[in-house]
Amino acid sequence: MESSTPVIVAIDGPSGTGKSSTSKAVAAQLGLSYLDTGAQYRAITWWMVTNGIDTADPSAIAAAAGKPEIVSGTDPEYPAITVDGFDVAGPIREQDVTSRVSAVSAVPEVRARITELQRTIAASAVTGIVVEGRDIGTTVLPDADLKIFLTASPEARAARRSGELKGTDLHATREALVKRDAADSSRKTSPLAKADDAVEVDTTDLSLHQVIECVVTLVEEKRAGR
Ligand code: C5P
Repeated sequence: MESSTPVIVAIDGPSGTGKSSTSKAVAAQLGLSYLDTGAQYRAITWWMVTNGIDTADPSAIAAAAGKPEIVSGTDPEYPAITVDGFDVAGPIREQDVTSRVSAVSAVPEVRARITELQRTIAASAVTGIVVEGRDIGTTVLPDADLKIFLTASPEARAARRSGELKGTDLHATREALVKRDAADSSRKTSPLAKADDAVEVDTTDLSLHQVIECVVTLVEEKRAGR
């Protein structure tokens, strides 16, 4: 492909594999936009919790799915997210949201709404975009130029997440991650899955720097048409 053609990179995988750090760094290094789709599912979950919607009731979630206005920034240096004009970048990382997001994101009406948003954002990226999530390569952008699927052992993932959330218990973090991944992988509508044509990168024994270099090389090779 020509280097002037926008390049679409899909990065999927479970939590704690280094998806966000890798995606942001690759986008910044290559001058591409960046979209954190997990933040969008967290934002709609935050809205449901804040507005008293029962997140254990799929029909209540479905009925409200069209209400919040979610706006995502695409600058990898300042990934912003607002819901109805409120900056929710902090609140969407709270435990309350994290423990409910898998249930909310499993509702087909929520996925349809957020997927449409994601496709519109990706289509408007001038130089290209790195989109990270769970179903980007399989469902949201099946024609992406490059698909990466990041994996890591549950131990490595829990250790990374505990490092991010200072003072948390490693065992509890591991249990919570495994539970969330199981829910994300087993849902009916666009589950967490590796696309057949994705390149799988096991990050267990790699430094963040090594993972970034690996993905940057893959994008550059794609652009050079190799
Ligand atoms: O990436 P992050 O851990 O912030 O994602 C939060 C949750 O959002 C995931 O556990 C999953 O339930 C949901 N998600 C999804 N599809 C995506 C991205 C995230 O269902 N493309």
